[in-house]
Amino acid sequence: MAEIRIQNVRKEFGDFVAVKESSFTIEDGEFFMLLGPSGCGKTTTLRMIAGLELPTSGEIYLDGEEISQRPPSQRDIAFVFQMFALYPHMNVYRNLSYPLVSQGMPRAAVREKVDEVARILGIENILKKPVGGLSGGDRQRVALGRAIVRDPKAFMMDEPLGALDAEFRERMAEELRALHDRMGATTVYVTHDQLEAMQMGDKIVVMNNAVVEQFGTPQEIYDKPATMFVADFIGSPSMNFLRFDGSVPEGAHSIEMQGQSISVPRQMQGASDKLVFGVRPEHVTLSDAGAYRGEVLATEYLGTTQIITLDTPNGELKARVPAGQVATVGETVGLGFKGEAVTLFDESTGRALR
Ligand code: ATP
Repeated sequence: MAEIRIQNVRKEFGDFVAVKESSFTIEDGEFFMLLGPSGCGKTTTLRMIAGLELPTSGEIYLDGEEISQRPPSQRDIAFVFQMFALYPHMNVYRNLSYPLVSQGMPRAAVREKVDEVARILGIENILKKPVGGLSGGDRQRVALGRAIVRDPKAFMMDEPLGALDAEFRERMAEELRALHDRMGATTVYVTHDQLEAMQMGDKIVVMNNAVVEQFGTPQEIYDKPATMFVADFIGSPSMNFLRFDGSVPEGAHSIEMQGQSISVPRQMQGASDKLVFGVRPEHVTLSDAGAYRGEVLATEYLGTTQIITLDTPNGELKARVPAGQVATVGETVGLGFKGEAVTLFDESTGRALR
């Protein structure tokens, strides 16, 4: 069991605020992603959960017990620093047994535990080999094994695959996820790669500028972004933003945008703020007819789909359409939006209106 609850946690380094009041819960057994651009506070958040940094204010609970100010050794949380941080002169067995021996575990128990972990990771046949001569994948498995042997309540991983090339990275990501599914241990994983977060995570926290922008399943975050930052950060190409200039008439339930009727949430009725109309490229359709039109600027062929870049009265727009659909640079085409997939944002706050 390991449920981790973050409540109003804030971290200051001198005058600098690295994490502003943040709250979210990591359920037992979840593969949980902390996602955001460089410097947004992900690593600091992870380090506070592990006890490597102490929060300036707020509380962290592990299975309902407050652990905010406890040292790392009293938290039972393993921090997987870097997959390659091993003792190169020792063999695999000694690398795996080291954390247990240094805890004073009896030899027979150490052997049993190391054998069990080696079986889980499929590295029984390399236990006698020196780590220095192993392939990248095996070294990665041994590094994970070093964290697993201690039977921690939860694993913290900081960009563990960051240094790997794309192909290998994908394979290790799959392996990590499969290992997690077999073991079921709560895992918190830091990444700046939105695709990695979407593919691997049960839940994602998106951070920006020391603030939690949104917290939810990959699908919730993709389909219902809470802010323009999240909408822009998740998805490739990212969500299109079309600026709608003008106020929403009092009592109006929808606005007309170049022939397209978009319903307006109640709190925006009568508002004069600028609205931003967010639509993902796959929710834009092209046709010969249609009042709202755009000029094709470029086409990018991707196999089963293609990305069409268009110039519209409200700015540039990208559409993802079937590869077979003909669109010629320079021609003007009609554009449609799949209504339910449109998100309306208030430009002044950057927040979605629902
Ligand atoms: P990255 O992916 O680049 O590591 P991150 O989202 O993990 O980014 P953090 O490492 O949490 O970001 O850092 C957040 C901010 O806090 C950064 O601006 C960083 O410079 C600052 N920071 C982190 N640790 C310290 C420290 N010990 N003293 C002062 N500032 C720090």
